[in-house]
Amino acid sequence: MYNVKSKNAEEFISNEEIIKTIQYAKENANNKKLIEDIIKKAEERKGLSHKEAAVLLLSNDKEQNEKIFKLARQIKEDFYGNRIVLFAPLYLSNYCINGCTYCPYHSINKHIPRKKMTQDEIRNEVIALQDMGHKRLAIESGEDPINNPIEYILESIDTIYSIKHKNGAIRRVNVNIAATTVENYKKLHEAKIGTYILFQETYNKKSYEILHPTGPKHNYNYHTEAMDRAMEGGINDVGLGVLFGLDNYIYEFIALIMHAEHLESVFNVGPHTISVPRIRKADDINVSDFKNAVDDETFKKIVALIRITVPYTGMIVSTRENKECRKELLELGISQISGGSKTSVGGYYKEEEEDSSQFEVNDSRSLDEVVNWLAQLNYLPSFCTACYGSGRVGDRFMELCKDMQINNFCLPNAIMTLKEYLTDYASSETKKSGEILISKEINKVKDSNIKKQLIENLEKIKNGERNFKF
Ligand code: SF4
Ligand code: SF4
Repeated sequence: MYNVKSKNAEEFISNEEIIKTIQYAKENANNKKLIEDIIKKAEERKGLSHKEAAVLLLSNDKEQNEKIFKLARQIKEDFYGNRIVLFAPLYLSNYCINGCTYCPYHSINKHIPRKKMTQDEIRNEVIALQDMGHKRLAIESGEDPINNPIEYILESIDTIYSIKHKNGAIRRVNVNIAATTVENYKKLHEAKIGTYILFQETYNKKSYEILHPTGPKHNYNYHTEAMDRAMEGGINDVGLGVLFGLDNYIYEFIALIMHAEHLESVFNVGPHTISVPRIRKADDINVSDFKNAVDDETFKKIVALIRITVPYTGMIVSTRENKECRKELLELGISQISGGSKTSVGGYYKEEEEDSSQFEVNDSRSLDEVVNWLAQLNYLPSFCTACYGSGRVGDRFMELCKDMQINNFCLPNAIMTLKEYLTDYASSETKKSGEILISKEINKVKDSNIKKQLIENLEKIKNGERNFKF
């Protein structure tokens, strides 16, 4: 039975409720009046229920879809301004005992080279990432209690935070590792991680069990209930995501929204981020084996609908998507993107080693190119990690975000971190477009005290000081 507050995955992601919701959405897909009312509700910027969002997903009215896209763009702007936060993934180890059929790291794949970085190798990787200008990482690792135990992950996080190379620093480490125990989540919290990210892959239990035939990840409930354990373990911010293409996208979309509703209802804190990966070609993985691939138009609608349904959430798109697609998705509500990514273990330090990639990157531009591109599109590239350092996490963050106050912090922090980037790492071309952008963005800061402080800080950054935050 469906129960949003239940601790049982099969009750808060109730299959029966999803099927009923799909049926309801089908029956109302042409109900213009209802769709208009739902869009009006979304305009209040308080979000939608999974039922309402499902109706919008299935509606095919061109005009109403345009309205949804426009609203998504506006909501992103109202909540987060034009800043786009940049990050990079860092693959620690691709040893894995799970059998996920869509991932080249699955244990049966014997021809992919297995690698686990030593702490010295991590140091090299982090220096390479700092030299690119990154301040925020998402660490990734396969599940393997012998090769990648929690102690290895914790030691690696310590190593990453400890490296101060030139003006570089990694100020926020988000963690994407397998579902684990409350005890281990406590340890990750104590290690001062940012967001704990875990992709559900698919919410359809039957498909989930087929796609994960072996290993601990086979256990659907344990995986789906991971965010509850993470929050019980003290982790403030969690990031959801499904791998679009594994199962029917309508089912996944509804379940994803139900998961967000569950977290809000139980912990009063919804997902800090929602990622929207799509299945990609990789070693031992053929995309044509997956019949549920999502086309670009549908994908754009999914992104826009997540934005208006869960307006407060950060939305992430990775380099799985190409430049053109990323540009369109930015216009529909994405607030974070990766840049200059390598998806192999040790990929930043030793550039030639791309043979152990988790997926094919479709946007292989350097971070500098991405920053310049964003600036030219009038987006404000941001390396900000200030909330995390200022205790604006969990419910404190949510409150500010839902009140549309967070951009008062995002904007000046983005400007300062961009200034740091331009001073320390940018090419002359990027410097030029970045400085033009900064001079425009300063004028958007409404609070005169913050503006005054910001201008002083920019001068100090020019003179070598770092890490200012509001
Ligand atoms: Fe392992 Fe994660 Fe790949 Fe599954 S998706 S095989 S758990 S690395
Ligand atoms: Fe993110 Fe907070 Fe910085 Fe805004 S101020 S970019 S929400 S860390």
